[in-house]
Amino acid sequence: MKFLVLLAVLLVAYLVWRGKRVAKAPSRPRTPALPTPQDMLACARCGVHVPRSDAWISDGRSYCSREHQQQDGN
Ligand SMILES: [Zn+2]
Repeated sequence: MKFLVLLAVLLVAYLVWRGKRVAKAPSRPRTPALPTPQDMLACARCGVHVPRSDAWISDGRSYCSREHQQQDGN
């Protein structure tokens, strides 16, 4: 009978210890932060695809470089 009491005490202690461990675990995002995908725009002059942030845009058309923007404008 003493054995059963000891077992019960150990079980409770284990559950409390486990509960604290789970509560202490830091909550991290499952995946590392990835760069957000960007829209790719095709150059109206040569067709090269560039990220929207790197594209030269004029009159609703996108270009890979300032040179192509100017060449297409003339
Ligand atoms: Zn181009």
